[in-house]
Amino acid sequence: MGEKVPDVISQERIYPSRLNSMTLHQNHLPTMMDSTSSSLHASLAKLELSDGNSLYAKLVVGADGAKSRVRELTGFKTTGWYYSQNAVICTVEHKTENQCAWQRFLPSGPIALLPVGDKFSNIVWTMNPKESSACREMNENDFVKALNHALNYGYGPHPQSNLLGNNGDIFSWFRRDLTVSANECFEVPPDVVKLVSGRMVFPLSLRHANNYASKRVVLIGDAAHTVHPLAGQGVNLGFGDAFALSRIISEGIAVALTLGRCSCSFSQVHLLKKFEAERKRENIMMMAILDGFQKAYSVDFGPLNVLRAAAFHGAQYISPLKRSIISYASGEQRLPLFS
Ligand SMILES: Cc1cc2nc3c(=O)[nH]c(=O)nc-3n(C[C@H](O)[C@H](O)[C@H](O)COP(=O)(O)OP(=O)(O)OC[C@H]3O[C@@H](n4cnc5c(N)ncnc54)[C@H](O)[C@@H]3O)c2cc1C
Repeated sequence: MGEKVPDVISQERIYPSRLNSMTLHQNHLPTMMDSTSSSLHASLAKLELSDGNSLYAKLVVGADGAKSRVRELTGFKTTGWYYSQNAVICTVEHKTENQCAWQRFLPSGPIALLPVGDKFSNIVWTMNPKESSACREMNENDFVKALNHALNYGYGPHPQSNLLGNNGDIFSWFRRDLTVSANECFEVPPDVVKLVSGRMVFPLSLRHANNYASKRVVLIGDAAHTVHPLAGQGVNLGFGDAFALSRIISEGIAVALTLGRCSCSFSQVHLLKKFEAERKRENIMMMAILDGFQKAYSVDFGPLNVLRAAAFHGAQYISPLKRSIISYASGEQRLPLFS
């Protein structure tokens, strides 16, 4: 006793064996959540399942996604809105292995090609609801053609503007020698040869829970916040929540042990509220940035298109800026306000 169990042992042996010994109540929705004061389960949260069973826990972590039932049962309200955009997602195959993630901002919304190993990539293609229905309904060959066109057309970042009469080539505004050569910095993504999954369509929204925590219940991930997928930040935000919650729980346990109290204090509201305050700041900041990007890219106006393209090209050549952007986007580094 008294010896710290090395992390690696916890991860490799203890956690899996705990999970193996747990009964999973699949397909049984929680129907009610309550704090119980019965002597048997004193001070526990009680979760009543649709099969009539009840679960008791010191802390319920609602990590059940954007339509969180835990959030609903707890009565947490949300604030947000739907974008007038849907995302079509599917998995595709290339001729050769793809190891590079691509994203292209089109007038209708961004399209991303995300490698998932071997010759396969996932597609997240944002467009207006009418176009997304058409994309889902069209035959596979036509869909693959449309996809390759969206990924490759113009062989460069030439966002077309309906407001321009020159075939939408915004770079023709510059004299040739001033033009940032699109071909120089735009490598063409690998062709898609086949669709290997169904096409699913998701409405996109920004949503934020007004509260993340109350007595014995806490929300993390999409249960607490959903963002536009244009920068692939949803998972990072969720990881940030999970990391912060586990740290704050550990700190709470350490304080309780130091004070000689035998009960863990992690379920106490003040710890959970500390988690809420810390994560709300960071999540709201990232949500505002992503919403700003979404709005900036929704405007199809020639001069603004030029500015956006120039800003991206500029960042490409300023190494420290580029490294910082990559570092923030990959979740390695925190936003400056929070570091
Ligand atoms: C179209 C689209 C594209 C996206 N692209 C990206 C991207 O490129 N990069 C990125 O980082 N993020 C992306 N996101 C966001 C990302 O998918 C989410 O942020 C992330 O999945 C949230 O993780 P989560 O664990 O909080 O929720 P989820 O991934 O939704 O997981 C919740 C889990 O809880 C389970 N569950 C729900 N209710 C119950 C219940 N009653 N009992 C038991 N289990 C339950 C669900 O089955 C699910 O497995 C995208 C989102 C969308 C809609």
